Amino acid sequence: MTLSTPGTMPEIELLAMDVAGRADRLRARLDQAECQALLVTNITNIRYLTGFTGSAALLLVHPDELVLVSDGRYREQLAMELDAAGVEARVEISSNGQQELMTASAEGLAALGLEASSVTWAQQRTYANAWFPDTDLVPTIDLVEGLRQVKDEGEISRMEAAAAVADAALAAVRPSLNDEPTEEQFGLALDSKIRELGASGVAFETIVAAGANAARPHARPTSKTIVAGDLVVIDFGAMIDGYRSDMTRTIIVGVPDSVQARMLDTVLAAQARGVQAIGPGVEAKAIDAACRSYIDDEGWAEAFIHGTGHGVGLDIHEAPRVSKESDATLEAGHVVTVEPGIYLPEHGGVRIEDTVLVTSDGCRALTKSAKTTSVV
Ligand code: ZN
Ligand code: ZN
Repeated sequence: MTLSTPGTMPEIELLAMDVAGRADRLRARLDQAECQALLVTNITNIRYLTGFTGSAALLLVHPDELVLVSDGRYREQLAMELDAAGVEARVEISSNGQQELMTASAEGLAALGLEASSVTWAQQRTYANAWFPDTDLVPTIDLVEGLRQVKDEGEISRMEAAAAVADAALAAVRPSLNDEPTEEQFGLALDSKIRELGASGVAFETIVAAGANAARPHARPTSKTIVAGDLVVIDFGAMIDGYRSDMTRTIIVGVPDSVQARMLDTVLAAQARGVQAIGPGVEAKAIDAACRSYIDDEGWAEAFIHGTGHGVGLDIHEAPRVSKESDATLEAGHVVTVEPGIYLPEHGGVRIEDTVLVTSDGCRALTKSAKTTSVV
């Protein structure tokens, strides 16, 4: 598969992903989790393990088989997607609820793992009382999410393609910041460009925050007109075949005042220090510390009001976290963001973010847009 948009961005080949090997890697983790099998209810985890992209299914991972239960809407899609991914599974289509099929599939299991982060209290009670009354239900944490942290070359190529689309889209619409668009208009132009360039969608709701709005890290685009003197925080990404990119650039329209100029310089330097610190075997909290200590030294500790970053992949926020509290250690194949920021209501906000791949000998940023802060 190739993603090609001649003349606007480099052609990036989407390499094959090893979807079929993932269930065995999951099985290797079940013993330690003290269960024989796992009921996967998180739909993104089901996609990861099987290639199925629909919105409703349950997956039972047995030691020797995968049982995927869905409904009639997905009969053909399931067959096609599992085949494309090279995954062998027993597919069961339920017409009136999944309970009977799942109960039968779990027969004889002594201990069945549940994904504690995705099963609601009500579901747990239903599973325990009605679906699996004769089976010990074991809460498990992050069994599939743990695998998802380490991306294979197929996943990396999709994230690189997503990042390249985002880079090209920003380059295309950036000059229009001089034309006094509203935040909403600029955001829409960016989102449309991302779709035109071949992405299946945006990675998350695009943030365009100018002037005082930029001091709120997760501001939604408004009808505010972007004018000279505004810092404009643009946080956005593209999605290719389910995989996402995440990037923030901050652009000053016109000339920055002296505080804005110092904010831009400080975040730029802090972000570079964070990226430089990334490598295999490095604690994620050390990346946070590298950014935070620089901003602290500049006297803006109170103005950096969020964690430094997060893992990215099929979800926009996934493991590992990159924050003070994180207990994660980076490994080759992890993809994390580095996104320090400084927010001062009187001056606006600055955030700079890259999506960065941890490699065997360091790291490589997937997002490549220049960090120059002028409009053009
Ligand atoms: Zn972002
Ligand atoms: Zn982010």
